[in-house]
Amino acid sequence: METVSWAGGREFSRRQFGAAAGAVLLAACGRSDDRVRWGYSGNRGPENWGEMSDGYAACSAEGEQSPVDIDTGSAARGEGGAEELSFAYGHEQIHSANTGLFAKVKYPEGQSRIRLRGREYTLIEIHSHTPSEHTIDGRSFPMEMHMVHQSPSGELAVAGVLFETGRVNPAVRQFIDAVPIRAGAESHPDSTLDLSGLLPSQDSYYSYPGSLTTPPCSENVRWLVMADIQEAGRAQIDRVSALTGGRANNRPVQPLGERTVVFNG
Ligand SMILES: [Zn+2]
Repeated sequence: METVSWAGGREFSRRQFGAAAGAVLLAACGRSDDRVRWGYSGNRGPENWGEMSDGYAACSAEGEQSPVDIDTGSAARGEGGAEELSFAYGHEQIHSANTGLFAKVKYPEGQSRIRLRGREYTLIEIHSHTPSEHTIDGRSFPMEMHMVHQSPSGELAVAGVLFETGRVNPAVRQFIDAVPIRAGAESHPDSTLDLSGLLPSQDSYYSYPGSLTTPPCSENVRWLVMADIQEAGRAQIDRVSALTGGRANNRPVQPLGERTVVFNG
């Protein structure tokens, strides 16, 4: 997961959440320290993140890190249902960015929300990983979209949607069209995304406590990995990957340790 790290994100944090939440946003920012050029291969790769900066120590600690492999056979059974998790996504103004590592669509207006066990979180960003970060029963998927949400007190809840190759997905096309082709570019497109097109029709999900999947790998992130797999065209997934140079931008799965994955559905 990568969270807000662009100038617009800081602007957003001041306007929408005030100083306290702003500090959380910066702490959660995957690329706030531009002097440390982490990446996904070689010396800059995930196995070395923890040694690249004192602030990245969590990346190599044996804590509650993400992503993980979801072993469906050993997942505990939760209560699930709409009372547990509901999406209230609307059409709103978007900003977009191509960081070179990530294609992102940002939500500065704060109109889209989820409700998780009675608590509201506001959608702040959607970005893509190709291939997926989470795996299910050891199976990787060609793409995973992360919907990053934040509560008023700064807690993060990230919904992960896994995609397999299949039918063309109009919402993925909107995502591709919204994101600048050039690395380092930002855009304020006139269009919006039909977010319902990115979400499965079923609200079943796996939840577990985890972390940002990018430096500084901060923990206390609530993960919601949607159980239903979405489809996108092969060419669409290739185009999403091409936005960030066609290189993999997924962190390998981390040990689950003592944590329990709960299936809610
Ligand atoms: Zn992500």
